[in-house]
Amino acid sequence: MNQQMPKNLLGLDLQELAAMVVAAGEPAYRAQQIFHALYSERVPSLDQATSLSKEFRAALGAAGVSVGMPSIQKRFLSSDGTVRYLIELSDSETVETVWMPEGDEGETGDGSEAGEELAREGFERPPRGWRRTTICVSSQVGCAVNCQFCLTALLGVKRNLTAGEIVGQVIAVLRDQNVSPPNDRVNLVFMGMGEPFLNFENFIKAVRLLVAGVGITESRMTVSTAGIVPRIYDLAAEPVRPKLAISLNAPNDDLRTQIMPLNKKWDLEKLIAAAREFPLRNRERLTFEYVLLREINDSESHGRELAELIHGLKAKVNLIALNPGPGIEFKTPEELRVLEFQKTLTNAGVPAYIRRPRGRDIYAACGQLKRTVEVAS
Ligand code: SAH
Repeated sequence: MNQQMPKNLLGLDLQELAAMVVAAGEPAYRAQQIFHALYSERVPSLDQATSLSKEFRAALGAAGVSVGMPSIQKRFLSSDGTVRYLIELSDSETVETVWMPEGDEGETGDGSEAGEELAREGFERPPRGWRRTTICVSSQVGCAVNCQFCLTALLGVKRNLTAGEIVGQVIAVLRDQNVSPPNDRVNLVFMGMGEPFLNFENFIKAVRLLVAGVGITESRMTVSTAGIVPRIYDLAAEPVRPKLAISLNAPNDDLRTQIMPLNKKWDLEKLIAAAREFPLRNRERLTFEYVLLREINDSESHGRELAELIHGLKAKVNLIALNPGPGIEFKTPEELRVLEFQKTLTNAGVPAYIRRPRGRDIYAACGQLKRTVEVAS
């Protein structure tokens, strides 16, 4: 075998595997076998890829080729069933991936309302036998966007994840939980650490592998962006793509620039224009996320302004009461304020849901992913 062999197989698509197989002097059908072993069987190492001949496995091993599965360094278990995984990559960097099982409660029938439900007055049951689950996936080590209310921002960005590392997180967690799509129902949200649209190529390649290889359909995936406008147009042009969520967080430019400095570059006019042009599929709608910050963006007039801003869009709003964290100056609004804000939106004809925080006790909730090794007490 020549020296152009890849180091890691995870992240390679069928074409790339075919090129490798041919370079190794093996029959082309081997590529399909490797693809199946990696993404459907999800083998952790080549010796377990028993559909390949022993000789071929040995030759790959001798050439320094391995699966490249990220390893689980730590698990943090929340009282609500959520598990935060600290995942270690090959260069010892770490990212977080969150497993959020859902019980029968809050079932909406179409699987599109992952991780959210109508407010149920603080009433929460730990899921017993879960019926579906959502995995929250990271796209970068850290984040460069600098949203003022987010803990991940405090890390800055270290590097982009490769497509293999993005897919690898999902596979590592599926294996750990002994869950196997397409038979088991799994939703993915690209809402973990990082800004997926600042790592667009690797993110979208991972999506293709997750659909074609792992067997999770694109309609069960949602990607969230802080508002990298050109990539919204790029996503729109992708034949295979997740649903789109946009982190709005403020109803006017002054406020948005204050809490999300990237708004200077891509302001609300540009952002909402991109949202209006985004081609929705059958039964699809956009999601706008709105983090409620006490006495900053949570008044009734903010609610009305928000409804006006997105008027006419086929969209819903997910309200997230700030998840607090060390180094974050903002405060969480009271439950009643959150319910009132929701009411302002629904009265204006905008469907609004309150996203129940998952795994706050283990720092796994939105905006809390910071590779914290300690657990909140
Ligand atoms: N970078 C992408 C993906 C991360 S998604 C994005 O910004 O959309 C994380 C979601 O959690 C975003 O909607 C963000 O606005 C929200 N968020 C960030 N910090 C938060 C916090 N402290 N409390 C609640 N939600 C937060």
